[in-house]
Amino acid sequence: MQTKEFKAESKRLLDMMINSIYTHKEIFLREIISNASDAIDKLYFRSLTDTSVGMKKDDFAINISADKENGILTVSDNGIGMTEEELENNLGTIAKSGSLAFKKENELGDDVDIIGQFGVGFYSTFMVAKEVDVLTKAYGSDKAYLWKSNGVDGYTIEESEKPDGVGTTITIHLKDDTEDEKYSTYTDQYQLQSLVKKYSDYIRFPIKMEVEHTHYKEEGKEPEITKEIETLNSMTPIWKKNKNELTDEDYNNFYVEKFMDYEPPVAHIHSKNEGVATYDALLYIPARAPFDYYSKDYEKGLQLYSSGVLIMEKCADLLPDWFSFVKGVVDSEDLSLNISRELLQQDRQLKIIARNLEKSIKNELTKMLSNDRERYEKFYSVFGLQFKFGIYQSYGAASDTLKDLIMFRSSFEGKNVTLKEYVSRMKEGQDKIYYACGETVERIEMLPQLEKLKDKGYEVLYFTQDVDEFAIKVMLNYDGKNFKSISDGDLDLDTEEEKEEAKKLDEENKDMFAFMQEAISDKVKTVRLSKKLKSHPVCLSSESNITIEMEKVLNSMPQNDGQNRVKAEKALEINPGHPIFEKLRTLYSEDKDTLKDYAKLLYDQALLIEGLSIDNPVEFANLVCKLMTK
Ligand code: ADP
Repeated sequence: MQTKEFKAESKRLLDMMINSIYTHKEIFLREIISNASDAIDKLYFRSLTDTSVGMKKDDFAINISADKENGILTVSDNGIGMTEEELENNLGTIAKSGSLAFKKENELGDDVDIIGQFGVGFYSTFMVAKEVDVLTKAYGSDKAYLWKSNGVDGYTIEESEKPDGVGTTITIHLKDDTEDEKYSTYTDQYQLQSLVKKYSDYIRFPIKMEVEHTHYKEEGKEPEITKEIETLNSMTPIWKKNKNELTDEDYNNFYVEKFMDYEPPVAHIHSKNEGVATYDALLYIPARAPFDYYSKDYEKGLQLYSSGVLIMEKCADLLPDWFSFVKGVVDSEDLSLNISRELLQQDRQLKIIARNLEKSIKNELTKMLSNDRERYEKFYSVFGLQFKFGIYQSYGAASDTLKDLIMFRSSFEGKNVTLKEYVSRMKEGQDKIYYACGETVERIEMLPQLEKLKDKGYEVLYFTQDVDEFAIKVMLNYDGKNFKSISDGDLDLDTEEEKEEAKKLDEENKDMFAFMQEAISDKVKTVRLSKKLKSHPVCLSSESNITIEMEKVLNSMPQNDGQNRVKAEKALEINPGHPIFEKLRTLYSEDKDTLKDYAKLLYDQALLIEGLSIDNPVEFANLVCKLMTK
């Protein structure tokens, strides 16, 4: 019999398969099961319109059998089968969808990962096989053919017998075990059961195998072994079912089993879509963050199925970073089984699906926020930070999606509030959203600037997370209302009268402030009267776009060390209502040298109040002692 050469392209792919160091060789089973399922689909479809096929849905099945001793795995189906010509065309050359992936492969060099991610169909069997036999009989034909190949020297086709009728039987002669690779596991019952569960659970036709059960009886007696043909797959995926057939418990059970979380999720989103993009999606919002969630190791992504066949374990393109905590499954018949990762990224359908999912997730969270505040806050305490990072890292592009999902503590109530809530109860005439930064709520509440704002009845948001201020800076405003840090220079809180008076006082003391600024000229740009202090003597306010809090955060980053340290331009503000003010005036006219010390001390005090460290603690201590011993 003549051995035929594989087509050049196929040969290269085969070489790659055989020599693949790819660790997920197990996907070969998924590939042949999915081919079997396609073949059955074709004949089943025919049986619906052509009674002469003589088969009902229940008659169709895929059978797996394993011969451990001889290292042989067999997968057979009673689908449409192949004619001699089809055998030649389909298995002699690489199939269309596969060849696309192959071309991509060549451009990318030897990136074998793609094989594992998407498979290249039938040829992937050569990752585990030293020989593959395909015995097939096409529907409507009375002849059967046997295709044989070792994947290297080409293949042979001969006429043969197939007593069990129409369909295809693939016999895989597994490679011999090596030090690194145990091919014999593919005849192991448990391994096969788990591979089918993992990759092919939702194939629409039963995947059957003879399963051995060991029954232990009394001690000392031999256990009894029974064998039974069992269906390994559950056939209907939960996401394909109707929502009204399913209970919360069903959803939670699936989640816990599938995503190996011991805690049930806070919410699930089951959406079915037809139209521009046809897909079913079942998404979950977990109750807790995986241990690596806030590390670089965490990989976001949804499981991607194409008509019930798993094509990708974690499709990252389906989720924006801000929803990276979402787990779930997307199943679309619009996606090809053998699409490569690179092509998938550009896939229009996938982009549409991703956009729809983002909307669904946002809606679900918005709903939770308004209907079940407690649950939302619990969720938010785990994942909320991600939203603020999302706004910041997208340079504000994600603001529309996220602006109503973020929360802050506030001076009004000891709990989280949304921006919407803040704005809805702004004082008459108030046009800014006030916020204060600090390490903790307690620290912020000690800020001298806060007192007066609270007194006048303004609500202040507390920014305790480093990202908070960065996020609102890129948001620019909420609902047309600008954000204003309470440590910004002018908060514009006073009445015209108060302003007039302050201006007068400022004018009168101009020279003294200039003198004080001179004493600490390397530290502050101005010294002036404060309009925002009530009982505290001093505070700092920032004169530039970089606030004092941002300076602190930026300088804690390694890249901003040493020379690159960021500096906020600061003003030292003095409370004219505080007794220290009178003292300063006295010193200005009687003892200018001591006034210099006072300027330094007041500046350091202001730093300490802000939670910043002082530049020269020794000098500070000495100055305090000098005063104490006077
Ligand atoms: P793909 O499934 O992406 O088309 P494959 O290399 O897996 O690529 O298969 C090539 C072709 O061989 C299939 O398109 C199909 O026509 C045929 N084929 C493979 N397995 C079977 C089978 N079990 N029954 C009938 N035809 C099959």
